[in-house]
Amino acid sequence: MPPNHRRCLACRKTGTKAEFWRIVRLHPTGTVQLDRGMGRSAYLCPQVRCLQIAQKKNRLGRSLKTQVPDVIYNHLWQRLTPPIPPDPTVNNPQD
Ligand SMILES: [Zn+2]
Repeated sequence: MPPNHRRCLACRKTGTKAEFWRIVRLHPTGTVQLDRGMGRSAYLCPQVRCLQIAQKKNRLGRSLKTQVPDVIYNHLWQRLTPPIPPDPTVNNPQD
């Protein structure tokens, strides 16, 4: 693996940091959070398949050696399904 590359904990794909979500278990509190912070890090592709594997097989929890709260998974699922903006053609009776 080239230097500065990361590996997805679900599918083992490698790439630069920017290609993955970063999940961090903070040192020394052990709090799990996303994107930033110092501590043990895990990386995951921003994809349904990888998130499913990370959650259902507890790959993320094992990688971070801690229990990952549901709220973390919920945040990640929300990132995959952003709110759909209103369709401007629907609510425009003047047209
Ligand atoms: Zn992956």
